[in-house]
Amino acid sequence: MKVFKFGGASVKDADGVRNVAKVLENFKDEELMLVVSAMGKTTNALEQVVNAFYNQTEDLTHSLTYVYDFHMKIIEKLFKEPTHPIYNEVAILCNKLNIMTDHKPTKDYDFIYDQLVSVGELLSTKIVAAYLNEVGIETEWLDARRLVKTDSTYRDAQVNWTETVRRIKKAYKPNVLQITQGFIGSDEDSEPTTLGREGSDYSAAILAYALNADEVVIWKDVPGVLNGDPRHFSDTKLLPEISYYEAIELAYYGASVIHPKTIQPLQRKKITLSVKSFLDINKPGTKVFEAADMTLIPPCFILKPNQVLITIAAKDFSFIVEDNLSEIFGLFSDMGIKVNLTQNSAISTSFCVDNAPMRLPKLITELQKKYNVKYNDEGLSLYTIRHYTPETEEQVLEGKKLFLEQKSRHTVQLVLK
Ligand code: ADP
Ligand code: ASP
Ligand code: MG
Repeated sequence: MKVFKFGGASVKDADGVRNVAKVLENFKDEELMLVVSAMGKTTNALEQVVNAFYNQTEDLTHSLTYVYDFHMKIIEKLFKEPTHPIYNEVAILCNKLNIMTDHKPTKDYDFIYDQLVSVGELLSTKIVAAYLNEVGIETEWLDARRLVKTDSTYRDAQVNWTETVRRIKKAYKPNVLQITQGFIGSDEDSEPTTLGREGSDYSAAILAYALNADEVVIWKDVPGVLNGDPRHFSDTKLLPEISYYEAIELAYYGASVIHPKTIQPLQRKKITLSVKSFLDINKPGTKVFEAADMTLIPPCFILKPNQVLITIAAKDFSFIVEDNLSEIFGLFSDMGIKVNLTQNSAISTSFCVDNAPMRLPKLITELQKKYNVKYNDEGLSLYTIRHYTPETEEQVLEGKKLFLEQKSRHTVQLVLK
């Protein structure tokens, strides 16, 4: 069997949902399981609901209305019959959002986040399932909260594999097209959890792992994995095949086309991952598998914008040693700040991290208690080139100011402005 994953971009409007049905028409004879993300930018919109509720700001009503209107507009285009049950289902889910935000927040932010944000995937899968049934593609809707069991690390829930595999196997019906949500699960108390932003690819991999699938196909708005994000780099080339190892490396450095956690479960069971265009399904796309031919892979470019460079030195000019580093990394981890690059010199260590305006000032204050801290948060970007050459490095550096460079055999990383 195969797991098909349709991301937010593929179901961003009514035409997107119609296109999902068209894609599926071509796979009538295959055994499939569908994983669908929230529609378009719904997760961002729900994050605004969370913030407005948590901070009790005035735009709460507006942000709730936005989510409701967005989904209503889509179903009005897909279901001409105003008595179709989907209208009621969407209304019920949106009303749940109203009820959950109808009082002052009493729980912590991350818990609230998962309660509210998980509704995005429930809405999208209800709509897609109803539409597929409407056009004669019979589906069964499965609640991923009952399948994917996790711990209670809200917003970054860790999967309980034994229980999850057991539940997925039990729910699976080979001859039925089942559709479920990406990104969400639930903890031991059956409270909703989420697997981290963009986590639907990972959900598809979890299902594939549990069901020993032959393949996972993630349907994207790009022809496959390219050697750079076409939004940031010109003349990008398709990578027809890459190894699991290379896919993990690219995802780790920030190639956002695949969620970094997706590869490991697939690699363990040697399940092929295909990345294909939902706009042109006959194009070959990219295949990720163990024995991919890597000899022809071109230099690959990855850009992480919005970086901050923090340089830490001991106040008495002494060396930064293991003890200090372990304390410093502990602080980064406690504050949930991701370190993308570290570089040591005799008396200082530099860290390139994602900018987190809410959390960084607190971290800096904490570090300043013991160290001299310099930081630069003015429009820095981290460029990574896998399989770099002197020419590609020149190309990236052109017209920019270099703040930090780190090289290994296959990879160069540059902090630039
Ligand atoms: P979805 O959420 O709909 O599954 P995403 O928007 O998360 O899809 O991922 C697709 C996007 O990933 C593309 O539109 C592209 O801009 C971006 N992207 C980043 N790096 C790459 C890459 N190396 N190859 C292809 N696309 C990339
Ligand atoms: N809807 C979630 C997000 O936007 C998960 C996903 O799309 O993969 O982060
Ligand atoms: Mg996405």
